[in-house]
Amino acid sequence: MLEKTALITGVTGQDGALLSQFLLNMGYKIIAPTRLNPDISKLKQIGIQSNQNIEFVTYNKWSDFKLIIADFQPNEIYHLAAMSHVGESHNSPDKVFNVNAMWTIELLKATLERSPNSKFFFASSCEIFQNNLNHPVSENDPKMPTNPYGISKLSAHSMVQYYRDVKGLFACNGILFNHESTIRDASFVSKKICSEVARIVKTPGEPLLLGNIDAKKDWGFAEDYVKSFYSMLQQDIADDYVISTGKLHSVKDMVTHAFNALDYTITWHGSGLDSIAKNKHGETVVAIDEQYFRPLDNRFLVGNNNKAKQKLSFNNITPFSDWVKSMTLAEYKKQQ
Ligand code: GDP
Repeated sequence: MLEKTALITGVTGQDGALLSQFLLNMGYKIIAPTRLNPDISKLKQIGIQSNQNIEFVTYNKWSDFKLIIADFQPNEIYHLAAMSHVGESHNSPDKVFNVNAMWTIELLKATLERSPNSKFFFASSCEIFQNNLNHPVSENDPKMPTNPYGISKLSAHSMVQYYRDVKGLFACNGILFNHESTIRDASFVSKKICSEVARIVKTPGEPLLLGNIDAKKDWGFAEDYVKSFYSMLQQDIADDYVISTGKLHSVKDMVTHAFNALDYTITWHGSGLDSIAKNKHGETVVAIDEQYFRPLDNRFLVGNNNKAKQKLSFNNITPFSDWVKSMTLAEYKKQQ
């Protein structure tokens, strides 16, 4: 059988690295466009940085993708690169919009012009949905983002639909809820919690400082999610899918599970800004710092993943406690 090729933007990020690993195991060749001197630490962490079936290609500007796509004629294109931090997007809406929306348009154009048979996946986001929807949201629920990140993702998402419905590209949106792994960036709360909990259990000292610990997210495990990206592109018809677990957990739950993973007992006291957690010696191990609070962070959005379950067999969802445990153990091992 001929080897399949997949072009992945954002190969050095969490999802790019994990998707590469998954596709390499399926016998794919990966085309990995990066800027000059990319940070390949995540690829290193999962041991695929020197895999012969990854071809790194340097690009300087987005218009270079026309040539790259024309040259390689990839079977599949996974557009994962993005500015991915919702909190930071409030400070740089212009940059976020440019990277997340304009770059997607460039890629869709380049695909249609230079390799129209390539199948296209876009990493859309749950941040596109309207605030205060209090049922599990599915693909056609109302969209009205409340932060620049979500606004940029919705624009790109709509362009993907336009290129599918009007221009005929095989293009899919994965509407992704938060998804974490051992190679998550430190700016995300999961990584912060697991690495700080590991530090505190090893050498108690400064407490873990968090923002809104009552914030709740539909959090999943990234290794499960990247498999669904691939499944979308194996369907007969291009479509959009919510990828979520369908369950909510609070930041506080995550902290509790992380300490549990290392058999370290904590007890919670107070509420809101006065919340703290103490260890069995009465030392404070978790406290609140207002600098980590965000505007409009009070929505408890949960995803309805029925379509992904039915059409993509998205069924083996790793439980929350399992992946929080594996992330915490990985951090603990690193700090030994
Ligand atoms: P995001 O939802 O993509 O922005 O992912 P994050 O992991 O950054 O944040 C998840 C949730 O954790 C948000 O509701 C944050 O407000 C909340 N949170 C509470 N404390 C912190 C913190 O110290 N850092 C971060 N990054 N998020 C925090």
